[in-house]
Amino acid sequence: MKITEIFKQQKRTFSFEFFPPKDEISALDFGINIGKLINLEPSFVTVTYGAGGSTQERTFAIVDYLHNKIGLTCMAHYTCVNASKEKITKDISYLSDIGIENLMLLRGDPPQGMKGIRLNPEGFNHASDLISFVNKLGDFCIGAATYPEKHLEAKSLKEDIENLKIKINAGADFLVTQLFFINDLYFNFIELTEKHGINCRIIPGIIPITNYNQIKKFVQLTGAVIPEEIISQIEPYQDNTEKTYQIGLDFAIRQCRDLLNRGAPGIHFYTLNKSRAAVEIFESITYEIKKSRI
Ligand code: FAD
Repeated sequence: MKITEIFKQQKRTFSFEFFPPKDEISALDFGINIGKLINLEPSFVTVTYGAGGSTQERTFAIVDYLHNKIGLTCMAHYTCVNASKEKITKDISYLSDIGIENLMLLRGDPPQGMKGIRLNPEGFNHASDLISFVNKLGDFCIGAATYPEKHLEAKSLKEDIENLKIKINAGADFLVTQLFFINDLYFNFIELTEKHGINCRIIPGIIPITNYNQIKKFVQLTGAVIPEEIISQIEPYQDNTEKTYQIGLDFAIRQCRDLLNRGAPGIHFYTLNKSRAAVEIFESITYEIKKSRI
């Protein structure tokens, strides 16, 4: 089913993002965690492509399995960095053949030191170009990425939103945000996008801080700001994994509840292939989730 069809039935969606496991042990772990998360009846799940060095073929194998064997509504991420139009056409037609109707279309990140270079002369520089191209290949529901604190390469939030408008005009049906921790930034961003005529769903992407050093790395990569309040709570306990987990979880529960109470159209969880935090957040916001599904 297309995610846009789900939007017609669900005022808010609750979705999970996974990445393809790298080896046999991670695959086992992935299976156990997916089993637990499926019980929560997510609106849809997504699988990343090539992120953090994961292999691209595994994305296709995982979406095939989740869609065709488990029966989940599944969105395959796909990036155009360094891909030719020929490769893109082949990959997208493969995904279509295995029944995938939902695509998260992204530019991806060029290898370090090669920023701003069109890596494949037969390819595309921007996600918007990929979206226009794929829209001509078939009838897909298309998601795209967005950045409430602006993309690191953009000179200003205004410039980034103007570029986002190009992505919407190219045919993106909805947007998922990069991780963030300050809800006011998200709601200010929504106000600005509406002023620019962007009216599609912009689903907040949330990551619970369960491992401080790992999150610090993500923050460096994305430019997202961690509130002082949470840094000062976690730093004294950064070597105490259980205490860090509890502080991060409490923060994420408050963040999700506040997002939903202020009208966000659901939550997209960056699960990092772990189920514990997502399950515990879900259980804590059951009331808000049930209200959304009526
Ligand atoms: P774009 O939309 O192309 O934007 C990149 C930059 O170019 C921005 O600064 C933008 O302002 C500018 N820009 C955009 N269009 C134009 C234009 N027409 N003219 C001039 N400038 C323009 N990475 C992976 O490798 N695999 C994944 O599976 C993956 N999944 C992700 C999922 C989500 C929800 C998010 C938020 C990110 C994900 N990423 C993933 C990371 C993403 O690939 C990077 O953030 C990448 O740097 C930008 O991708 P984009 O699609 O937003 O690019």
